[in-house]
Amino acid sequence: MSNKFKILPLADWTLAGNSPLVIAGPCSAEGEEQMLETVTQIVKHCAGKVHMIRAGIWKPRTRPNSFEGVGEIGLPWVKNAGLAVGLPVMVEVANPEHVEAALKAGIDALWIGARTTVSPFNVQSIADSLKGVDIPVFIKNPVNPDLELWIGAVERLNAAGINKLAVIHRGFSSYEKSIYRNQPMWEIPIELRRRYPEVPIIVDPSHMGGTRELIYLLSQQGMDMGFDGLMIESHINPDKAWSDAKQQVTPERLAEILNSLIVRQPKLDKDGFKTLHDLRARVDRIDDYIIELLCERMGISEEIGIFKKNEHLAVHQAERWSQIVKRALEKGKMGGLTEEFILKLFQQVHNESIFHQTKVMEKN
Ligand code: PEP
Ligand code: MN
Repeated sequence: MSNKFKILPLADWTLAGNSPLVIAGPCSAEGEEQMLETVTQIVKHCAGKVHMIRAGIWKPRTRPNSFEGVGEIGLPWVKNAGLAVGLPVMVEVANPEHVEAALKAGIDALWIGARTTVSPFNVQSIADSLKGVDIPVFIKNPVNPDLELWIGAVERLNAAGINKLAVIHRGFSSYEKSIYRNQPMWEIPIELRRRYPEVPIIVDPSHMGGTRELIYLLSQQGMDMGFDGLMIESHINPDKAWSDAKQQVTPERLAEILNSLIVRQPKLDKDGFKTLHDLRARVDRIDDYIIELLCERMGISEEIGIFKKNEHLAVHQAERWSQIVKRALEKGKMGGLTEEFILKLFQQVHNESIFHQTKVMEKN
């Protein structure tokens, strides 16, 4: 396989070895005490399972009246807390001034936040300020579900010579109501993995879930997907946290989560391979069948298109569409499929069907 990026394996530049890389720490550094206490508790409860400490110093908040971070003054709090427990520390940087201050304070790794990854100008200026610097950089996905923009940021950092690189999947914001603060849309990091298997993917269940209750489930899903690590927000007193209070967990809870995670083997043993092979063959057959049926369905849509054209009927018949959705929802529900999935699936099928109908209707 020819690698597109020059990225060193995680095991070469982190303390994780072959286990998932775990980054933990508060959303924001709030004070010297809070940092030291949090980190000490994390190490006490999660001995050996946490490999890096995170803390936000400059916080990009959606609304200007929220807490926007303590700023530069907090850098030594973070660094010293890491030194006290012997773990590397990382902070978020959003511009070259942040990079300069973080490097000066001896911060060990950097991350680029979702609101920065959306801007190629900002990412490029960060990349330029890191030329010739050997420091690990983690790149969060952009807030919007744009895989190319995410990959573009990896390209910019890699081209600047950063080869200790990883991405952080923190979910995507959406106007739609959802149980998630940011929708996981797992298909996006999965596609990234398919195209660039050399890029390590860390999952951030905290910003994805937005509530404590979802952290375990999302962490396990990340592990089930075969991703390489987790970034989890942890605070000694989560309810009193100055930012993201609802989604932070205590160091005790963090330990429970990490201890109950099942880490799937990326490589299969001989017996496992056989079973998996059979199951995958069955899935492939079903996928073929789905495609064949969809082709047949679109063929019928074209016939309907010809009929509608001859009878001067509109392509979209609202009543008929409601009927289709209702039937599909009822049937899907019986088979255990979620309403959200059926609705999305049928919207796509319907769009394709309208495309086929208008294609034949526009033909003379
Ligand atoms: C954070 O990690 O605290 C943060 C601001 O995250 P994101 O960029 O994913 O919103
Ligand atoms: Mn946060």
